[in-house]
Amino acid sequence: MKNGEERVGILTAMENEVRLLLSKAEIERTDRIGGVNFHTGTLSGRKVVIAQAGIGKALSAAGASTMLNQYNVKALIFTGVAGGVGDETRVLDLVIGTELVQYDYGIRNQDGFHWSPPLFSSDTGHFICDAELADMAWNAAVGVVGPEHTFRGVIASGDQFVASESFVRELRDTFGAVACEMEGAAVASVCEQYGVPFAVIRSMSDKADGKAHESIENMGDLAADHCGRVVMRMLEEMKK
Ligand code: SAH
Repeated sequence: MKNGEERVGILTAMENEVRLLLSKAEIERTDRIGGVNFHTGTLSGRKVVIAQAGIGKALSAAGASTMLNQYNVKALIFTGVAGGVGDETRVLDLVIGTELVQYDYGIRNQDGFHWSPPLFSSDTGHFICDAELADMAWNAAVGVVGPEHTFRGVIASGDQFVASESFVRELRDTFGAVACEMEGAAVASVCEQYGVPFAVIRSMSDKADGKAHESIENMGDLAADHCGRVVMRMLEEMKK
């Protein structure tokens, strides 16, 4: 289908992640498709389509696929809060994805779970973010929280809220991950199928440890606002 003007697609999981963007955007039209509102309009001088698709890999992949099907999206930005992995990131730091991996995809045999890319395919299981978009996201993030609070690296996605120090260490050791969340790799895999460049921008709401629930409760809204600010700066940059 892919109707109309070229737009930048912006996708989030939760309402607090879309709130600032919708409050600043000039929305011309809202289409409700599959229970998700797709808002088209202008934000920071760019034509955009914005949607909050829901939490987890299934809903975010469905949201991405509807967006790429129905609108003329030339680049897709997924943004939202995440758990920081490893020692360097702190709560409210920003992580720009270089690649995404589904940490819960693989094989379960007698010895337990083994991560593996899909069998009988050429997939590596790693989805590479567009370098130019990642650079723009990096610059925008530095503008919001400063270079000492901005990181880039692997983001690990799975259908689990991670609140475990041992598991978060495993994500670090196995994938070299910097952040963990529940959508990025799913959206990335859909974008790859559609051949649409994508970026993932994550603000750390927690450290995916024993205090993760408390941390996301207290810091989630502020972290989500930072995501919105980074996206708007990035759109300004894309205008040039
Ligand atoms: N109030 C919500 C909280 C969901 S938290 C609820 O109870 O359902 C999960 C969302 O935040 C997901 O969109 C995920 O991408 C992100 N996230 C933040 N910290 C995370 C963590 N430690 N592990 C996994 N996902 C995390």
